[in-house]
Amino acid sequence: MKYCTECGSEYEDGVTTCADDGNAEFASAEEMRRRGVPIVEGRDTRNFVFADTAEDPLTSERFTAVLEAEGIPVISRAQRGGTVDNITGGSISPWWEILVPEDQLGRATRILAEAKREMEADAAEAARAAEEESGQN
Ligand SMILES: [Zn+2]
Repeated sequence: MKYCTECGSEYEDGVTTCADDGNAEFASAEEMRRRGVPIVEGRDTRNFVFADTAEDPLTSERFTAVLEAEGIPVISRAQRGGTVDNITGGSISPWWEILVPEDQLGRATRILAEAKREMEADAAEAARAAEEESGQN
């Protein structure tokens, strides 16, 4: 593996130019560290911060899809039993923690708010359609 000296992206040894910035200079991990250029190794989770939660896998997938469509890397982590349900005492459903890079949090929050509005509109539409259907029967 070698790394673009401009942006720190990781590349196979056969690659000659960086796909992101066209830079043709690459260096080893040691050299990058020596130069103080941060390396992008797969998904660097160090700067990921909490953006939102999803209550089911479909919501989690949708959040991930809309963020990735905007070029924002996402980590979706399943969580279990973060809080105790005192009211029902029942089993606690899993939920998903949506994490995004800290420097993209503002954008991600706006995109997720928009996605939620769309999902609520879809749900309302589905409910209306179901109502109409049952009305006809
Ligand atoms: Zn690069």
